[in-house]
Amino acid sequence: MSGGGAPGVADAVVCPVCPRHCRLAPGALGRCRARRNVDGRSVPEGYGRVTSLALDPVEKKPLARFHPGSYLLSVGSYGCNLTCPFCQNHRISQAGEGDVSWRRLRPEELAALAEEARRRDPRVIGIAHTYNEPLVAWEFVRDSALAARERGLVTALVSNGCACSGFIDELAPLLDAANIDLKGFSPAFYEACGAAEGSLDAVRATIERLAAEPGCHLEVTTLVVPGMNDSEAEVDAIAAWLAGLNGGRGREEIVYHVTRFFPHWRMADAAPTPVTTVRRLADVACRHLAHVCVGNC
Ligand code: SF4
Repeated sequence: MSGGGAPGVADAVVCPVCPRHCRLAPGALGRCRARRNVDGRSVPEGYGRVTSLALDPVEKKPLARFHPGSYLLSVGSYGCNLTCPFCQNHRISQAGEGDVSWRRLRPEELAALAEEARRRDPRVIGIAHTYNEPLVAWEFVRDSALAARERGLVTALVSNGCACSGFIDELAPLLDAANIDLKGFSPAFYEACGAAEGSLDAVRATIERLAAEPGCHLEVTTLVVPGMNDSEAEVDAIAAWLAGLNGGRGREEIVYHVTRFFPHWRMADAAPTPVTTVRRLADVACRHLAHVCVGNC
């Protein structure tokens, strides 16, 4: 909204959605390239702008213990609030509206597509928000989840979890499942991913919030990158922390995925993580957790 300036001249706004807290001049895009200052508000310009739509097995999200054998209509847009140098989806995560082709889908249209897919194949159970970072246009996740629920469809979130707590509080009761990336357990690793100060704390708070949500099945993933987050001490600390959250759930435990890095984007010349490293770190996590999966091995 306009302040005390001339009529029609909007104010700058500080975006409240993630710890980056971009200061957006009138008309400016945020770092994620999915939100813009429109009339003094941080508006999700990426809302309903779909770049990717595919029916994926639930295990591909990855969700190992949420309706195994089922499928999710997986939807992605563009934009992300991080710049992980190893991003495998960088063509959409680092894109803006002019860099990729997209089509607009309203939440009701997305839910109708999922319902139609379920009609053709009863293994389809709902929608996954994935591929780019869904939380930079979290309002689309919220509205789609409401539309999905009306049709008896589930909603899954695949996310870096890097958002401020009020938005997660609003989304959590609408989610049936989530897989949150916990990229590492040090602020330095998040800094290497282009994250703003406080991002690790925000991700931890997201995981804690979803772990406490009775209706949300929760899985967590760490991509193990050689020389960056592949120490036993780091994975041991993550697993011990996740195990502590299980105590408050009183039901199924958090599933932890330790996955193998393959060269992508700015780390295209790096070597893949040795399979032996991934398996050794999974064994470390098993000291604390009952459900540990290895990925990409
Ligand atoms: S969501 Fe984060 S990166 Fe995007 S505009 Fe808001 S503060 Fe900036």
